[in-house]
Amino acid sequence: MTPNLFSIDLEDWFHILDHDAAPKFPEWGEQESRVAGNTDRLLGELARADVRCTFFVLGWIAEHHPELVRRIAEAGHEVASHGYAHGLVYEQAPEAFRDDVRRASDAIEAAAGVRPVGYRAPGFSIRRDSEWALDILADEGFEYDSSIFPAERAHGGLPGAAALPTRLPNGLREFPVSTVDMRLRRIAYLGGGYLRLFPTSLILHWARGQRARDEALVLYLHPRDIDFEQPRLDLGALRNFKSYVGLRGCFEKVHRLLDEFDWVPFRDYPEEAFA
Ligand SMILES: [Zn+2]
Repeated sequence: MTPNLFSIDLEDWFHILDHDAAPKFPEWGEQESRVAGNTDRLLGELARADVRCTFFVLGWIAEHHPELVRRIAEAGHEVASHGYAHGLVYEQAPEAFRDDVRRASDAIEAAAGVRPVGYRAPGFSIRRDSEWALDILADEGFEYDSSIFPAERAHGGLPGAAALPTRLPNGLREFPVSTVDMRLRRIAYLGGGYLRLFPTSLILHWARGQRARDEALVLYLHPRDIDFEQPRLDLGALRNFKSYVGLRGCFEKVHRLLDEFDWVPFRDYPEEAFA
């Protein structure tokens, strides 16, 4: 059986992309920090379920919470990279992207003692116009990427890209997040706002369908996705809905998914399982 991949993008409640109401990079240090409390709750749940997974760590978080990143590594989880400053890849010049990735790897290595071999872009922002980033990642020594979102999306999205784990021509292994084909369009269902929005019964239905075809589930979560008490930004009606829907029930969904399926860190995905 192909194993499933469980991941957490390690960032705080205020790491909201591309919105004027979200705190800017120079203001991050002044915000209330909730990432350690929420992550410890997730670490406890992962330990209960005896699951090891992959944390895509924001370099800024590694710098400001090195003890949290060390705890994650010591619990046997994989520590991978979410970049340093949470900028959209397609808004960066290639050399600025390379600098951001290196700064993140340095901060993560300083905190956890291991240099990441996996990367996930903020907002899955590797699109057709930023595919050059995949070559920089390979050049920087990364072994895999999980930034391709094979469906329509506000930030990023590469509709038509492979929907299952695959090897890219440049040697990187690519792990797209799980999607379901709705005939008219493909939609994500196993991460972030999608995971919070869809009812548990529907998520389990789609996930079991994938497992019946021996397809790997690729799940992503943020610590804030389980935090009903987080401060609310005024992001406008649509973004408020996407950002804050389903916070209360999300932890229970994670519990069900951890119990029903077998999960491994991305680094442990077997070579023979690629499509
Ligand atoms: Zn992020």
